[in-house]
Amino acid sequence: YCSNEPNSLVSDACVSYATLEDINTEVRPAIQFLTQNVDFFTYYRLDLYGRECPFWSDDAGFCANRACAVETTDEKDIPESWRSSELGKLEGPKASQPSPEVKKEEPSPFKGELGEDTAESCIFEPHEGDKRDYCVPEDEGNGHNAVYVSLLDNPERFTGYAGQSANNVWKAVYQENCFNTQAQSQKQSSNQPFGAFGKGIPADPNAAANLKNVMDRRKHEVVQKNLISPPPEEQCLEKRVFYRVLSGMHASISMHLCHDFFNQTTGQWGPNLQCYKDRLHNFPDRIQNMYFNYAILLRAVAKLRKNLNHYTFCAGDKRTNEFTRKKLAALTDSVASHPSVFDESVMFRDENAIVLKEDFRTRFRNVSRLMDCVGCDKCRLWGKIQTSGYGTAMKILFEYDENEENGKNPVLRRTELVALINTLGRLSNSLYAFTRFGAMIERERVIE
Ligand code: FAD
Repeated sequence: YCSNEPNSLVSDACVSYATLEDINTEVRPAIQFLTQNVDFFTYYRLDLYGRECPFWSDDAGFCANRACAVETTDEKDIPESWRSSELGKLEGPKASQPSPEVKKEEPSPFKGELGEDTAESCIFEPHEGDKRDYCVPEDEGNGHNAVYVSLLDNPERFTGYAGQSANNVWKAVYQENCFNTQAQSQKQSSNQPFGAFGKGIPADPNAAANLKNVMDRRKHEVVQKNLISPPPEEQCLEKRVFYRVLSGMHASISMHLCHDFFNQTTGQWGPNLQCYKDRLHNFPDRIQNMYFNYAILLRAVAKLRKNLNHYTFCAGDKRTNEFTRKKLAALTDSVASHPSVFDESVMFRDENAIVLKEDFRTRFRNVSRLMDCVGCDKCRLWGKIQTSGYGTAMKILFEYDENEENGKNPVLRRTELVALINTLGRLSNSLYAFTRFGAMIERERVIE
């Protein structure tokens, strides 16, 4: 699979940088339209302040810069049908939705039946999420702590959050990449309350609270170590993919903070070439991983195309629902018109596949939980959106049947779909910023 690849190809994705850039030029307007003009994609509902870091206590890591703050949106300013008071009415024991074909003729006998324009995707179910989730669900539970945030009013950019706190989170994120051998993972999943993170991070957030002291000690151990190095190329594809996703997400975040940097001398926001040089230019592997992530997100969006035919957007009125559907279809059609850029069917195929996949999923869920340890509200917001976006992409890649249109695939919650499209938008922006920084470097070279 993808052996003998020339350097122009993105490893493990079998697609060239140039192809991904061409696709980006074509699909970027549709992505920008969705993420800047369609209400469904510009508001995100999440528990931003209510969850403690389940792995360590780090009061000193709190970022007090103004740029770290998040402006939340009052519920009265969001479409009525998304308000928790409205959706809360639908809470119930696993509300069910009749399949699209029988919806009108046969009303569902179940409690918590959904209205014609409401679907499971609109509901905050008080459960821990689907076994097939790769992330801890964001808007689940009773929703008391959830807030709405306008993503347009809170763009991802330089905040000044740095130092030990930021470093600890990144280290712990990469620590999740230490896959055990097969035997160890089996033992771990059957005998221990722990998920991943070497031997230590508990998979259950409640159990995590009891282990805070242990984790405080572990945190200091982790800080002493160097960051986990990338897996060697001979390691299996799945482990390489896991690392690439984390590193590509990190690269994309770095790209944005360098591209939308605050110049304290001029008081202006704009690209900071030195920041880019220090964090990305001299690290082609990081850039490659960012392109890799763009490829897997494109593949996930293409794969979702048919599944969205019956998706309910909970926008309240039919016209807004149809508008949202049409604009999203413009994107998915455009992405799907290109040959596939990633082949997920080659993953999780050998005899250890079940154990490996479970391990993969548990580790990614832990990465999503680590976002509650980020000490800067704005960074936490975008960290949560992006981990949820990648988690959703993996759920689609590894758990979805592309041709299944009527309800057998796991339901995508609203937050998952919003996170997926916004994460694609972040990567699309990163590719664009990369080209811009490249041109700036070229200009500098010509002047010298
Ligand atoms: P860091 O970026 O903290 O990196 C730490 C170490 O990781 C590096 O020294 C290097 O060894 C390794 N590394 C770096 N990049 C990669 C990569 N792509 N792949 C593999 N290894 C790598 N700051 C903002 O200004 N705005 C934000 O929106 C923002 N969001 C954040 C979100 C999260 C989840 C986190 C944890 C931090 C965020 N930060 C944000 C902080 C930012 O990412 C940096 O941590 C901070 O700017 C300090 O940078 P640094 O130079 O110490 O290196």
